[in-house]
Amino acid sequence: MPRFDVLSLFDGYFAPLREHGICRRAFDSGAMQLQVWNPRDYASGVHRCVDDRPYGGGPGMVMLAEPLERALDAAQRARRNAGLVTAPVVLFSPAGAPLRQTDVQRWADSDGAVLVCGRYEGVDQRFIERSVDCEISLGDYVLSGGEIAALALLDAVARLLPGVLHSAESAQQDSFSDGLLDCPHYTRPPRDAHGAEVPAVLLGGDHARIARWRRDRMLRLTLQRRPELIAALRAAHRLSARDEAALSAAD
Ligand code: SAH
Repeated sequence: MPRFDVLSLFDGYFAPLREHGICRRAFDSGAMQLQVWNPRDYASGVHRCVDDRPYGGGPGMVMLAEPLERALDAAQRARRNAGLVTAPVVLFSPAGAPLRQTDVQRWADSDGAVLVCGRYEGVDQRFIERSVDCEISLGDYVLSGGEIAALALLDAVARLLPGVLHSAESAQQDSFSDGLLDCPHYTRPPRDAHGAEVPAVLLGGDHARIARWRRDRMLRLTLQRRPELIAALRAAHRLSARDEAALSAAD
């Protein structure tokens, strides 16, 4: 059961996660634990300052290392008191490795981590060098803070935890879980008001045929939109002769 400790100046971002949908179920069932630590509570002086101007000049502010370090110590101490070993420290940053479903699965199988949310221009580099084990990016764009990246990671982890999704199969079918994008989905009515119909194979009840149709659509969509994912599966010998036949039929 993973426990995540989040260091954030804007701890209000995290309360809604406990209140809605699948994440709420993960917390209520105890499948995931979350504690948020505000570095401001660990800042010194009457002003409880958490940032300062950058050396060398330029716009914006930089997060001070010291309040972060103190908040991190408190979080690691609390984890030890809860019987956990010291957790890896993750910093959200555009310079990090892009978050992938395989990483999400690894975090879901782990004891969790301390997640550090940057703000302003970022975090004093000395904190990163001393205390951060890995950096994660949500994508090639700039957010105003790491909170939304942390929420994305927590949400993606929550839905993989045992007992959280109503059907474990549902996560296995999702995009990326086997290296492919998901197939299209349809629900009632079989023919809608615009005259658009559901593919006949899905109405037929032949489960082997349906599974083949779905796999083919996953392969075709992935080849079209993300050919590099198909190349990776090929390199890992994870495509069957049937898969290859479906792909050449799609070409
Ligand atoms: N000056 C930085 C951006 C700072 S944005 C730069 O140009 O790279 C403030 C904080 O938001 C960052 O410290 C980081 O914690 C978070 N952040 C911004 N974009 C992000 C992204 N794509 N992925 C993860 N975290 C991000």
